[in-house]
Amino acid sequence: MIEQVCNVCGDSLADPVFSTVGEKSITSLCELVPTASHVFFCRRCGHVLTSPMKNIEAYYSEDYQILIDSEEEDQLVSFPDGSKIFRFELQVDTIFDKMDIPLNAKVLDYGCAKSTTLRKMCERRTDLKPYLFDVSENYLPFWDKFADSENWAVFDPKPDWKGNLDVVTSFFSLEHVSEPVAMMKQVHALLKDQGFFYCIVPNTFTNTADFVVADHVNHFSVLSIHALLVRTGFEVLEIDQDVHYGAFVIMAKKVDSANLDYDFPSSESLASAVNELSEFWSGISRKIEEFEQQNDLEGAVAIYGSGFYGTYIASCLTDMEKVVAFVDQNPFRQGLKLFGKDIVSPEKLPVETRVMYVGLNPTIARESIRSVGCLADRNISYCYL
Ligand SMILES: [Zn+2]
Repeated sequence: MIEQVCNVCGDSLADPVFSTVGEKSITSLCELVPTASHVFFCRRCGHVLTSPMKNIEAYYSEDYQILIDSEEEDQLVSFPDGSKIFRFELQVDTIFDKMDIPLNAKVLDYGCAKSTTLRKMCERRTDLKPYLFDVSENYLPFWDKFADSENWAVFDPKPDWKGNLDVVTSFFSLEHVSEPVAMMKQVHALLKDQGFFYCIVPNTFTNTADFVVADHVNHFSVLSIHALLVRTGFEVLEIDQDVHYGAFVIMAKKVDSANLDYDFPSSESLASAVNELSEFWSGISRKIEEFEQQNDLEGAVAIYGSGFYGTYIASCLTDMEKVVAFVDQNPFRQGLKLFGKDIVSPEKLPVETRVMYVGLNPTIARESIRSVGCLADRNISYCYL
């Protein structure tokens, strides 16, 4: 039995609801790490958490370089109706829509990485005073472009910020924090009375990949967001599940004291949603395992898709030696390597390929493969997730 305590309410947790296959799991940057990952559900506060990776401080300080290559890289956010928008633009639009930020406000972006969102906010609102904090020095060149070095800190926030900040923001950062209670107590101390906390985290219930990402320690639910904030001295003003598809947008206000007598609502209906997620991913893992055993003698293997699902398949296979290539339609991925294997266009799929794992979102996978003309005449067995 693996012992794990809930990092939101402190309760001891029962057995994991999900574990990866073997000693392998994948990170949010689609890297394979040589360690199993276990997901737990806390029935008391409704939190879902993944055991923190070992050496997590070193990982963020040295290895974790999200979109570090240039300022302009961004991620497109898709909506169910097919429309797309760049993530940073959406984040700026949303915070200005939701929050009346006072004139000349001091705004700290906590765990900010390059802090592209706050930089773009300051371009639109030149009165705002940007403050920056993260646990890595990798981002200093980006901070230097728009903030005063007096107002940034690495590893520990500056003591004179205490009680001085109007707003603290956290954009896709809190899900990585192994001790969210300690972080929220610190945010509480940094804010002025009645100061605002504004936060975006993935919603694992609508963004299912989040559930199996090894470095996302926290998979928040509405219940666990409430529990965390109320017990660290905040009043929850809003939890919006719609404006950012696949994420929670949270707005809270600092109040005088933490409410440790918080009455936890029932997490019964949440338990079945967590169970569904666990079944979904366990089912995929089982399917890959069985297919690999059945097709052991068939010859060369390829994985279609070099994104999250393709990487997940690679993490489940026991024999990567047989994999001759990843296939990807995206010209920006072709020519790169993943786990030492070439990423090629469908036209360049090696002729000896007999088995193909389709690493695409299961809802669109069959249709996508059917639409690739050059695969139609090939003698290949497909494994759909
Ligand atoms: Zn809990």
